[in-house]
Amino acid sequence: MSQQGYVAAPPYSQAQPGMGGYQGGFGTGPAQPLYGHYGGPPQAFTTPPAGMLKSPASSAAGMPPPPVSSQYSPNVQQNGAHPQRYPSPPAVYGQPTQSPYNSMASRGPPPSQQLTNEMSALNLGNYGPGPMQSPPPPISSVAHQPFQTPPPPAMGQPQMLPGSQSLNMSPQMSSSQSPQASMSMTSPQMPGPPMAGVGRPFPGPPPPGPGGFQQPGPPGYPQQAGQFGGHMAGPQPGMPGAFPGAPGSLAGPPQKKLDPDSIPSITQVIEDDQAKQGGQVLTTNIRGQVPPLVTTDFTVQDQGNASPRFIRCTTYCLPCTADLGKQCQVPLASIIKPFASLPKNETPLYVVSHGDTGPIRCNRCKAYMCPYMRFIDGGRRYQCGFCSCVNEVPVFYFQHLDHMGRRVDLYERPELSLGSYEFVATLDYCKNNKPPNPPAYIFMIDVSYNNIKSGLVKLICEELKTLLEKLPRYTQEDVGFVTYNKVLHFYNVKSALAQPQMMVVSDTAEMFVPLLDGFLVNYQDSRAVIYNLLDQIPDMFADTNESETIFAPVIQAGVEAFKAAECSGKLFIFHSSMPTAEAPGKLKNRDDKKLVNTEKEKILFQPQKGVYEQLSKDCVAQGCCVDLFLFPSQYVDLATMADVPSHTGGSIYKYSNFQVETDGEHFLRDLRKDVQKSIGFDAVMRVRTSTGFRATDFFGAIHMNNTTDIEMAAVDCDKAVTVEFKHDDTLNEENGAFLQCALLYTTINGQRRLRIHNLSLNCSSQLLELYKSCETDSLINFFAKSAYRAILNQPLKNVREILVNQTAHMLACYRKNCASPSAASQLILPDAMKVFPVYMNSLMKTAPMLGSTELSTDDRAHQRLSVMAMGVEDTQLLLYPRLLPLHNMDVSSDILPAPVRCSEERLTDCGMFLLENGHSMFLWLGQAIPPDLIQSIFNVPSLAHLQGDMCALPELDNVLSKKVRSIISGLLDKRPNSMKLQIVRQKDKPEMLFRQFLVEDKGLYSGASYMDFLCYVHREIRQLLT
Ligand SMILES: [Zn+2]
Repeated sequence: MSQQGYVAAPPYSQAQPGMGGYQGGFGTGPAQPLYGHYGGPPQAFTTPPAGMLKSPASSAAGMPPPPVSSQYSPNVQQNGAHPQRYPSPPAVYGQPTQSPYNSMASRGPPPSQQLTNEMSALNLGNYGPGPMQSPPPPISSVAHQPFQTPPPPAMGQPQMLPGSQSLNMSPQMSSSQSPQASMSMTSPQMPGPPMAGVGRPFPGPPPPGPGGFQQPGPPGYPQQAGQFGGHMAGPQPGMPGAFPGAPGSLAGPPQKKLDPDSIPSITQVIEDDQAKQGGQVLTTNIRGQVPPLVTTDFTVQDQGNASPRFIRCTTYCLPCTADLGKQCQVPLASIIKPFASLPKNETPLYVVSHGDTGPIRCNRCKAYMCPYMRFIDGGRRYQCGFCSCVNEVPVFYFQHLDHMGRRVDLYERPELSLGSYEFVATLDYCKNNKPPNPPAYIFMIDVSYNNIKSGLVKLICEELKTLLEKLPRYTQEDVGFVTYNKVLHFYNVKSALAQPQMMVVSDTAEMFVPLLDGFLVNYQDSRAVIYNLLDQIPDMFADTNESETIFAPVIQAGVEAFKAAECSGKLFIFHSSMPTAEAPGKLKNRDDKKLVNTEKEKILFQPQKGVYEQLSKDCVAQGCCVDLFLFPSQYVDLATMADVPSHTGGSIYKYSNFQVETDGEHFLRDLRKDVQKSIGFDAVMRVRTSTGFRATDFFGAIHMNNTTDIEMAAVDCDKAVTVEFKHDDTLNEENGAFLQCALLYTTINGQRRLRIHNLSLNCSSQLLELYKSCETDSLINFFAKSAYRAILNQPLKNVREILVNQTAHMLACYRKNCASPSAASQLILPDAMKVFPVYMNSLMKTAPMLGSTELSTDDRAHQRLSVMAMGVEDTQLLLYPRLLPLHNMDVSSDILPAPVRCSEERLTDCGMFLLENGHSMFLWLGQAIPPDLIQSIFNVPSLAHLQGDMCALPELDNVLSKKVRSIISGLLDKRPNSMKLQIVRQKDKPEMLFRQFLVEDKGLYSGASYMDFLCYVHREIRQLLT
């Protein structure tokens, strides 16, 4: 396929038989209508000869009537109409095209497992509440309706807003409330001090200071410092006494128990959205359309806006003015995951070539050709949707317009009709105007005493033999090996050699690569020598006594190797200890728990300046991504060691006190997943916006040399960049707002590409519209990243204050401007944000945000850095883990049990629960669990017989065992990271580890329960409103 003018090719075009489906789509194969969602004939994408006009006849025929010209009119959404909504995915999605990544990812879930996953997701809504599942909160009747919400009654004061939830927080209420959702919340009425208990979100020792919840603004806000009574100390799961600080409990007589089911529930919101939108097709032809939740299982048909898998927003309706934005304080941000994996039933991105001149771009703002360009003047010119500049259409690109003023080839060109696609980049987009070499991988193994002794080195070498088989295959040199302790050993593994040769570099101050020929080799050619090397490495260092290591020179060596080979690539570094050997980047222990809860706590999160900072720049400039696998037995200054990975699009994995027997499989799963992720190298991303607003801040595993270009040495399918927007002018309701994310990168096989994602948003001068279009999961992603960055520079206490204040402010503004008048005791939450407080409270209880000396400094730094690169799905799961009851599920069903709320109240003594948050996984066993259940799962007669550190379930031949293991492996396959299964018995000491994930309860170290937090926020709101 070498057509010029317009070439559509598979996005990962590596000629291989698996791509047949693709060709069918583009060419003649009638069985594969490729642009299926347009219903067009398969040849719709037949490419015209260079520079020639495509005959309109060939394309128009068989096309469905094109969408009316108001395709992106806000009216469409207002009407709630979904003209394109299909009851189920159309058959055209049946045969996904095969990409090299797909085939590479053959380690993914086996078909049956896949089915389990999908079925489970599909049926969340159908699954009846189990015994532990409380009845759906009454509020569900007014629940979450991001799509169907009727238009507001002319912005008056609607009686019961469709998008709001009203919680009556008056003390008299009982749990036998009417299903209309009112809820008793006592303390808020109490002025000042009685808030004590409620307002004590971080009661644990040492108290991070009640000031954490003080409002700096309004004077006269009561100091709460002295108010926190001892009765709140320690975790109080289950909240039996409701509000310890409330008058009732202070006075002695137990107050009526507040029904936890009456406050908004995340599991319910998830279940409702799944029931409503699960299994449906989301067509992206509507401006400002709020997508289903990240947890909902749906199919996307790209019809002009990027799939929510690529871009999600905190709100899909921007306020027209900066003032309005300030008034509501809802952050305006997008979370962009440019390489997001698509499910097999969605079409991979098309690749477009505009020939030798490169992609067509607006002369003024440089936006790329996209559906938001308006063709005028008979098709000879087009007006840019971003800057309004009128541009000439290049001769080869000319096409006539139809009676609606649209190009007749609209549906044949992805860049005119789709939200996401790729352009072939010309030499202008390549370094030094030369086509890039394919990226390479270098494996760098710490062979110091610890790693040898633990058996890690042997494990890695064994694994690499099979892992290397799964690397993408090219004709070029693509793989190299280094071992090191306080010196580096380079290996010549040239295919002509009978034995690998080692070259030692002990001068680490001026790092260089001692051999150019034979270091980076083609794996296929050199396989025998490489195997030989991998067999020898563990023996070569078997008797080592060397415990000191270097680190910065290791990374430097990798960069130098890539420089010499003129390629980008990735370093896999397997490292165990703090680099204390005399060399650049030498570190010393600076872990000082005395800093916790002081102004200087931020130092613990800050990387050491100097060597690593410069190294990050070198890496990004060369397109050298660093993945760090850490196996520490003590503090290693992760904040500094992970500095380079966290600026190069790399991942940081940490296996504390690693033991091959219990952690080996966990680590290998991570490594295998990592190697097989789809990835782009040497990337620069730019987010352009239509006039009136612009991208002002960026969060991610990125590097920025200026204020606009987001540089990433690599970006894989799980890495997301969160981009914040600010107004610089007034936005227009009619025109809406556009954004275009352009990612220039090198494919795994060395092609330079531009990946484009477009999204159109609504604008409104009515705040209600903004609140209706909010997405809580995206909001919390933004807040997590901005808070985690803020703690580098500010005391935690201030950051927590800001978070709570902003939460209260956003909700108060809604109450004031959008909700109907109601008693002050009512807490009114916008429907789209009704579970926001749960997430916010959970965020404030995460390790980085807690000033607790009990937490490991490295763990806190690790979580901080990991979250910075997360997408919306990952932060959602991290902040609200899945808790699945497994003791009473239907083993014959393919459906996952419905998750229950993360609270001890939902556990049962005779139950078995699985909890996972994407990073940790627990199997919790109640004290009174029936012995036959234990027998079925563990093959032991009772709980007491269970061994301590089991990390996998025995493979037993019974349905329950099979079902539980299949659920676990399904979840492990699905998440970006592996998780180590931890089995905990109720009331055993390790249960504490598990309990910290019950995020609706009081925190283990400190932190409020959800209920307390909600009361506190309510009080803050009332303060703001008076
Ligand atoms: Zn422009």
